[in-house]
Amino acid sequence: MRKTVSFTKDATNLFFHILTACNLSCRHCYINPPQHGSNTLPIETIEEWLALFASRSKKSNIIFLGGEPTMHPELARAVKKARALGYASITIDTNGYLFHDILEKVTPEEVDALSFSLDGATAETNDPIRGVGSWEMCVAGIKQSVAKGFSTSLIYTVSGANLHELDQMPDLLERLGVNHFFIQVLGIRGNSAKEEAEEDGLMRVTRDNWVEAVPKVAEEAARRGIKVTWPKVFLDEGEAFECAGHVADNLFLFPNGRVYRCPLCEDFPVHAMTIEEGALKAAPRINETDLFELAIAEGCVMNRIIQPGNIVYKENGTPAWRVACCLLKEEITP
Ligand code: SF4
Ligand code: SF4
Repeated sequence: MRKTVSFTKDATNLFFHILTACNLSCRHCYINPPQHGSNTLPIETIEEWLALFASRSKKSNIIFLGGEPTMHPELARAVKKARALGYASITIDTNGYLFHDILEKVTPEEVDALSFSLDGATAETNDPIRGVGSWEMCVAGIKQSVAKGFSTSLIYTVSGANLHELDQMPDLLERLGVNHFFIQVLGIRGNSAKEEAEEDGLMRVTRDNWVEAVPKVAEEAARRGIKVTWPKVFLDEGEAFECAGHVADNLFLFPNGRVYRCPLCEDFPVHAMTIEEGALKAAPRINETDLFELAIAEGCVMNRIIQPGNIVYKENGTPAWRVACCLLKEEITP
């Protein structure tokens, strides 16, 4: 069944970057240390910050991120603390290197999903984007995760450099035993926002290419029993626009204490909140919250500001389509 996942304020999704260090240097990495910090949070701080958000809404979901979160020697303790605090679901996003024997220290009962990032069906496509040897390591990590009984997902960030292998993914996912496929769109932030990214072929695919390729691959993966989630990116004629900053509670927390509501704002010091001395405080205005208020014909205001090339105008000056919120997702459940 295919549906657009509606936004809700009844659930909080906390994307918690517990460190920004990573063993890889992906060409599209969005981590921006001047904006996000370069510290590794002590476990005591992680526990304190987890407690701050645990009962924020009826249902709080936590996604541990980095950098590479498994490089944090106390990730297992953080997972157990999140469980004890009553988080409704716990996910670890990893590049697959699985440091500190993390799979030996947590159980499938404690972690709802391990989510691996892979950007090609083959090493030939993945490794130039994510680093030499990373395809093999990631696939080995996925196999271990599946063998240990963890619910295992895969994130594929589509760009001009790997669109051609997207249709090979359902077969690979089925063979590996992955049960949830996240197709992601390349975000123009961090490394991808730099000029040389486009010269390297690491650019966003066009609307036509996205609409042509992604739903077809999603349907094929679903036919094989795999759940698929992907961002809507472009709204269809007549579809309502909503900004998640207004109507949902997604929080992107970085080790310097900044809390953003919109991923597209993360390259700028416009975060909505900060954690200072153990308390969550509103950041001084003007901040991203002020941007969410702006109603423009193009749809998402941040897309209009940072990636205007994605918007095409008709002769009368109105946009040919509206850009969806980057957090608006489509989903097919088999
Ligand atoms: S694995 Fe993630 S954090 Fe590490 S370099 Fe790649 S994109 Fe950045
Ligand atoms: S991507 Fe656009 S629509 Fe979504 S939260 Fe950010 S500013 Fe709002």
